[in-house]
Amino acid sequence: MSHPYTGPSFGSTGAVRAKRREDEKGLVADALAGQLSLERRQRIRDKALAEIPSWYSPYGQLTATIGIGVIALLLGVWELSRLSGIRLTDYLIIPLTFVMANFFEWRVHRDVLHRRRKLFETLYDKHTPMHHMIYVEQDMALRSVQEFRLVLIPAVGVLGIVVLTAPFALAISYLWSACAGWLFLVTASLYMVSYEVLHLCYHAPHDSFIGRRRFIAAMRTHHARHHNPRLMQRWNFNVIFPLADWVLGTIAPKGENPIIDSQEAPQTPQ
Ligand SMILES: [Zn+2]
Ligand SMILES: [Zn+2]
Repeated sequence: MSHPYTGPSFGSTGAVRAKRREDEKGLVADALAGQLSLERRQRIRDKALAEIPSWYSPYGQLTATIGIGVIALLLGVWELSRLSGIRLTDYLIIPLTFVMANFFEWRVHRDVLHRRRKLFETLYDKHTPMHHMIYVEQDMALRSVQEFRLVLIPAVGVLGIVVLTAPFALAISYLWSACAGWLFLVTASLYMVSYEVLHLCYHAPHDSFIGRRRFIAAMRTHHARHHNPRLMQRWNFNVIFPLADWVLGTIAPKGENPIIDSQEAPQTPQ
């Protein structure tokens, strides 16, 4: 084997991590070239599952993630009920936030989850050389609830992103209105939590109750296409709704292998 991948690079230190990252480069290059065998994927899955700590609780992680959304929503409703004089125009912030979040999701997915960036290496490591190697277009389903860990980002990360929206909410409350600020905070938080929950749903077995829902099945097709290793660096970056993909022209063209068909080389991550 030319690139003996030894597992995801997060969670290890020093030389082990450096070695793993070298292996990952070879792994991702092979995947982009369509040379990812079932055996190799199985080894990555086994390794990733073996590294899940014994204290890990899949439903605990899911509850914490959903809980962040519920708390943001309750907090927003509570504050809005105390504020007087919400104007109809304040509600415009909801679709505006949705559109901004959709483009933000596209950008972060393409440029942080699929390119290793300083300070955000863990996000890349958990996504491209792990999540994308374990789940591919024709094999998207989780095999156990333990695998929630291979799909969801840690709840503390979700909380961190929600907290990062607070200064923007504050700015909106000064520049627009306090109500618009709270509506922004709630919409952005729910968007983030929806991203996590929907992504998990797309990886539910097709014949499960969740996997059979029509909306989930439709959006799973879009996301599964992104899980084709040959296409993952270029196409279908939206998870919630493919608005930015549509506007920016990154909806994967039909056909078995649009990259080869259009004579364009896939972009290899740094
Ligand atoms: Zn996925
Ligand atoms: Zn991806």
